[in-house]
Amino acid sequence: MRRQTSMDTGCLSSMNITGTSQARSFAGQLPTHRCFASSSIQALKSSQHVSFGVKSLVLRNKGKRFRRRLGALQVVCQDFPRPPLENTINFLEAGQLSSFFRNSEQPTKPLQVVIAGAGLAGLSTAKYLADAGHKPILLEARDVLGGKIAAWKDEDGDWYETGLHIFFGAYPNIQNLFGELGINDRLQWKEHSMIFAMPNKPGEFSRFDFPETLPAPLNGIWAILRNNEMLTWPEKVKFALGLLPAMVGGQAYVEAQDGFTVSEWMKKQGVPDRVNDEVFIAMSKALNFINPDELSMQCILIALNRFLQEKHGSKMAFLDGNPPERLCMPIVDHVRSLGGEVRLNSRIQKIELNPDGTVKHFALTDGTQITGDAYVFATPVDILKLLVPQEWKEISYFKKLEKLVGVPVINVHIWFDRKLKNTYDHLLFSRSSLLSVYADMSVTCKEYYDPNRSMLELVFAPAEEWVGRSDTEIIEATMQELAKLFPDEIAADQSKAKILKYHVVKTPRSVYKTIPDCEPCRPLQRSPIEGFYLAGDYTKQKYLASMEGAVLSGKLCAQSVVEDYKMLSRRSLKSLQSEVPVAS
Ligand SMILES: Cc1cc2nc3c(=O)[nH]c(=O)nc-3n(C[C@H](O)[C@H](O)[C@H](O)COP(=O)(O)OP(=O)(O)OC[C@H]3O[C@@H](n4cnc5c(N)ncnc54)[C@H](O)[C@@H]3O)c2cc1C
Repeated sequence: MRRQTSMDTGCLSSMNITGTSQARSFAGQLPTHRCFASSSIQALKSSQHVSFGVKSLVLRNKGKRFRRRLGALQVVCQDFPRPPLENTINFLEAGQLSSFFRNSEQPTKPLQVVIAGAGLAGLSTAKYLADAGHKPILLEARDVLGGKIAAWKDEDGDWYETGLHIFFGAYPNIQNLFGELGINDRLQWKEHSMIFAMPNKPGEFSRFDFPETLPAPLNGIWAILRNNEMLTWPEKVKFALGLLPAMVGGQAYVEAQDGFTVSEWMKKQGVPDRVNDEVFIAMSKALNFINPDELSMQCILIALNRFLQEKHGSKMAFLDGNPPERLCMPIVDHVRSLGGEVRLNSRIQKIELNPDGTVKHFALTDGTQITGDAYVFATPVDILKLLVPQEWKEISYFKKLEKLVGVPVINVHIWFDRKLKNTYDHLLFSRSSLLSVYADMSVTCKEYYDPNRSMLELVFAPAEEWVGRSDTEIIEATMQELAKLFPDEIAADQSKAKILKYHVVKTPRSVYKTIPDCEPCRPLQRSPIEGFYLAGDYTKQKYLASMEGAVLSGKLCAQSVVEDYKMLSRRSLKSLQSEVPVAS
């Protein structure tokens, strides 16, 4: 099967299709992008499965859940304008950190900084070091950029990804990065809502709609108060009372909750179990691919704090195509344009040391040795732990890493023979026991757009028991869950929608498992070894293990290197002098 794609072409053309005006007035915003290429209009008009439906918009406007008895949900494909993020404190702070690099004094002798790992953390480190006038040499083990946002093209030209990725308004460093690279238009912003499937009512959804007219946190409070399908009023009141200490106690309180799992904390605060079941299982799985009986409560409180304190904090966007080309390549081009290097297929096998315990060079699997003035490890924490030299193992900074362990997760893609109707142009919380979030990428993402067939991308979590099983078993289990989400359209035995093909991407060790008491083990970017630094979503930064966390960690790492410029230059000079033979 070869899908028609509409990347960078007709998608941006404006169209006049019945329903547009209703969509605008209900949403209260002018859509900037419609997912329909002009060449596809005819196909759309004749399609029985996709149409611009007013019905679902009316329901949405009333804040009701989608009721199948009123007719199947009509898939409305619509992007929203980029929200005004520029004036938030967090955005300005992140922008200031970016300008620190551009405005820092140009080094007389640029440092050569060797970086292991071209995920977002390594790419960000390289970008900001290059901005500060230094020369990063970024070495990636695999033949693809991006690490956990890596993606591959199959023989039909269809992309499949390591993970379904969502960008939030409350990602100030990512939002700055997109602006700095001139690629703001690559984020497809969706309606400000969170949409949850209703397990007890197969095929139905319940939503939290954040009104445009209210400031934060009132828009979030309004969204919660207006939803009466998932939580009853007494449950909402008890939950709010439970959260009160977090609101009053601020950051100190949030940090102190790292000792509790989400379930323990809910019990301690007298929050009914049903709140946990209705909301926090879905949230825990979306945040860290584990259940609330394992996740640290600190993680939830940080997320609530970040997402609810800004008006557009919880607004979501999809990248408009595959991450390696649409996000990583612009960073690589930028780094190269400033004299940096990015090399694929360059796996670091060993960190070789000098007699004083500092890094001598990185030894690659192909036998080459790469030397620099400073060294950065931006690999996942599990890889770093394998490569920490014996001599460093007893240093508490490295010893504490033992507590940080990557959590397994599986990303499933299924291409169907038809356009599914019971879906939406947004991220959906499945609330199934096996699945976390999912999206019909043939609707949400320009490059994956297809007017005739759906491609569901689903995060399968918790995956501990599944990561060792075969793809066929995983697809069978996924289909059973999908039959509940699409009761009219999908049956586990494929007697309804047929699978055209699938891809399963397993990540046995993904982001670190945020169980209680991990926070003190997260390392600062500057290590106790002179000239050796860490970057990665697991390192110390105020965002969770996320794309935002990875980019921020790269910035903080680059900042440490820039601040250490004099020390690093001195060290390099010394080692050069020791290599020069002394004249007799
Ligand atoms: C299924 C899934 C869904 C997700 N969804 C979201 C989401 O919606 N929103 C969000 O913000 N975050 C999400 N995340 C998390 C996000 O992807 C990560 O937090 C982030 O990408 C991590 O970036 P990183 O650079 O720290 O690490 P990585 O991306 O893991 O990068 C590390 C790099 O190091 C390389 N490497 C490893 N060993 C070596 C070696 N020996 N030598 C050289 N290179 C090496 C790796 O190949 C890799 O490229 C998701 C993750 C997954 C798996």
